[in-house]
Amino acid sequence: MSLIQEVIARVEEKDAGQPEFHQAVKEVLETLEPTVARHPEFVKAKIYDRIVVPDRAVLFRVPWVDDRGEVQINRGFRVQFNNAIGPYKGGLRLHPSVNLGIIKFLGFEQIFKNSLTTLPMGGAKGGSDFDPKGKSDGEVMRFCQAFMLELYRHIGPDVDVPAGDIGVGGREIGYLYGYYKKIVGEHNCVLTGKGLDYGGSLIRPEATGYGSVYFADEMLKTRGHKMTGKFAAVSGSGNVSQYTIEKLNQLGASAITVSDSNGTIVDADCIDAEKLAFIMELKNVRHGRIVEYADRYNATYYPNMSVWDVIRDHNLKVDLAFPSATQNEIDESHALGLIQNGCYLVSEGANMPSTPEAIEIYRQHNVLYGPAKAANAGGVATSGLEMSQNSMRLSWSREEVDDKLHGIMRSIHASCLSAAAAYGFPGDYLAGANIAGFLKVAKSMLAYGVV
Ligand code: NAP
Repeated sequence: MSLIQEVIARVEEKDAGQPEFHQAVKEVLETLEPTVARHPEFVKAKIYDRIVVPDRAVLFRVPWVDDRGEVQINRGFRVQFNNAIGPYKGGLRLHPSVNLGIIKFLGFEQIFKNSLTTLPMGGAKGGSDFDPKGKSDGEVMRFCQAFMLELYRHIGPDVDVPAGDIGVGGREIGYLYGYYKKIVGEHNCVLTGKGLDYGGSLIRPEATGYGSVYFADEMLKTRGHKMTGKFAAVSGSGNVSQYTIEKLNQLGASAITVSDSNGTIVDADCIDAEKLAFIMELKNVRHGRIVEYADRYNATYYPNMSVWDVIRDHNLKVDLAFPSATQNEIDESHALGLIQNGCYLVSEGANMPSTPEAIEIYRQHNVLYGPAKAANAGGVATSGLEMSQNSMRLSWSREEVDDKLHGIMRSIHASCLSAAAAYGFPGDYLAGANIAGFLKVAKSMLAYGVV
């Protein structure tokens, strides 16, 4: 058994019951195989064994009182995975599916993603099994305050700087930061994704979606193609999806799908700026369901089907795919459905949205595949830019931040290709992203000795 397979086997044994974490570890480590022979110093220092164990994982009780006066208990998590290259950085997810294994998979991926951005940020992730759906603003606020009452002792502007993720947008960041500031008595900008009036950065809300389209655009250029005139499938209807659609429109492509956990909308007339404004009001202000889109516009609603089910089962033709909802949303049958219906590019706005079997299908069919840790790194990169502006007590213009974001996405694309070529996987963005992200972290860990 190779060293890499031994490490994977140990993780499966010692971290039993965490399938998403196992999946993420396998996906990264298997592409690191060629680094083992070239870096005996990493082997000697047991870097491969060390990198799969978090620096620490905090699990805590979050008690709060609902609108009926009943006590509710949720589980809270913060996994600080690795701070070799900078303070811990990674979002907070509020979703009923959240558990330790899911937060560990997200925190592990975040190490390599943050390294790829070229900014000094370590990897972490957190969240809770709290479900914000159907809760009043007051309930969400009381939950966020109870969550922060424990989280505050583990974070700090040079220690750990959380941000948003699924279920955590501007409203939640406001409640979390407001309470942190009250407890600690300092306005030290410990969260990113803040409102513009209190330390946020222009373009942060747009950054993940914009970045995923910039990355796709770079991939298209390698084949001499352009965004103009392309039809795209986008899943989800939250932060990442909304700004993916906006940037696709700006670059002359057209999104024809959106979804939420209840169903999928197909709009053959395309989701233009006016329809996107409706989605933003529906999802960000009224917190409603995507079915309302079909009541308002000439579009078809498929209840209980994902975007990828609809493409596979109804032969919907698309050129490009932007999975932007959640992990493992595209399985092998969906990947085959995409290819049979003309799709030749997948840019992952969501984290780990493709199963290993789906990724294998992309490989076999020469799909331009932008893996999450590269394609969606624009979000955390712009969080890094928010931290820089906070430290300097300055704000950059929209154009300045967008230019920096665009530059970072181009540089991530170039590093993926050059690392992939240097280690014998030319054109393989997944291997390139993992290797480029890993090398910087591994060299830093080596420099610190055994800690
Ligand atoms: P969001 O604003 O909360 O939106 C999430 C969207 O995905 C919603 O439409 C949601 O539908 C849908 N969704 C979530 N869980 C689902 C499930 N289990 N099945 C089907 N649909 C589901 O979250 P977001 O910030 O856009 O994040 C989306 C993805 O991007 C996540 O994988 C996240 O980790 C990743 N990401 C986000 C950022 C960022 O800056 N926000 C950065 C990098 C990566 P419902 O409303 O019905 O739940």
